[in-house]
Amino acid sequence: MTTPYDWISKSLNTIHQANWYRTPKTITSSPGPIVELEGRSLINFASNDYLGLAGHPHLIEAAITATQKYGTGSTGSRLLSGHRDIHRQLELAIANLKQTEDAIVFSSGYLANLGTITALVGQRDLILSDQYNHSSLKNGAKLSNATIIHYNHCDLSDLHHKLQQYRHQYRHCLIITDTIFSMDGDICQVSEVLDLAESMNCMLLVDEAHATGIMGKKGAGCVDYFGCTGRSLIQMGTLSKAIGSLGGYVAGNAVLIDFLRNRSATWIYTTALSPADTAAAIAAIELIQTEPQRRDKLWENVNFLQQKLSHLNILPSQSPIICLECANPSQALELSQKLIIAGIFAPAIRPPTVPTSRIRFSVMATHETAHLQQLINNLVLRNIGNV
Ligand SMILES: *Cc1c(COP(=O)(O)O)cnc(C)c1O
Repeated sequence: MTTPYDWISKSLNTIHQANWYRTPKTITSSPGPIVELEGRSLINFASNDYLGLAGHPHLIEAAITATQKYGTGSTGSRLLSGHRDIHRQLELAIANLKQTEDAIVFSSGYLANLGTITALVGQRDLILSDQYNHSSLKNGAKLSNATIIHYNHCDLSDLHHKLQQYRHQYRHCLIITDTIFSMDGDICQVSEVLDLAESMNCMLLVDEAHATGIMGKKGAGCVDYFGCTGRSLIQMGTLSKAIGSLGGYVAGNAVLIDFLRNRSATWIYTTALSPADTAAAIAAIELIQTEPQRRDKLWENVNFLQQKLSHLNILPSQSPIICLECANPSQALELSQKLIIAGIFAPAIRPPTVPTSRIRFSVMATHETAHLQQLINNLVLRNIGNV
């Protein structure tokens, strides 16, 4: 007997055979530089909590207070019964951090990208997309029904060439790119891409998921770091990385944000962010703006580690995301396992997430020198990083 579902286990077998199979690992402690993972205490290089805010007492207290006042759920979409004063406070806090006219919060960064791209472009339009963009940008582009052309990673002359070739055939054009690339750690030259977008009459959407809170003097992100604050573009990001909560946002001109409130399906037809997540994000943005020492410490850690690992097979990075290249998926898995035995938690990132396998280390402000040194000892002195 065959069933219509038989192909699923076959497909899963293929995933196993390619060493692409993945399962979640259970952490049983609070977030931080040391975590409890499946009974072991490990130094954590797997977290996006760059500033160490996810376990900060201010955020926890804000989440508890908001839960006591508003309950656990928002009970409806923003346009029906889900809108609270704290949602608006959070949007104004984001607009203030980004120095934009307004901002809108979504239930996740993934939904922010899907909802924004599909609202901005359609069948008669063109999307130019960096080949290494995050899944949420790529799937947002697909869902929009616009024509999608990929340009070579961070290659401005390729982007320019493709715009010259195709731009005139379409109505609107949207360029989409990560600012800090999530699985590589390198950075898009935002001001140059923006100049090009302006000169070719294109909109630009930048994904600041990994840059918000850590780049720029006040943690506003790469747009600010590259001196583009105040120029017209669309900035999206997440509340779940350096901001230590959950949710996504888009920041930009008031007209853009007003349009998204009326046209973005992933905002209109989904339940508003929970009170706890909302309040925690407000508390985090306040800390980001008033306590720059966390950002300073993060960059001190990043520079130290970058320097000590520079002779290994490290991908070019200007961020807390540091990747050690591996020859193939099984080697990446093996190295990740060796690191766990040595007391270090860092994930193997494999296809289809990325074209080539690697171990991804993310640095946090809360890492102590001894934590970084233990990683260096294992990769360099014990030589297990020489792959
Ligand atoms: C994590 C991430 C997202 C998605 O954000 P979530 O809030 O986790 O859904 C989008 N873009 C990039 C580049 C990311 O790294």
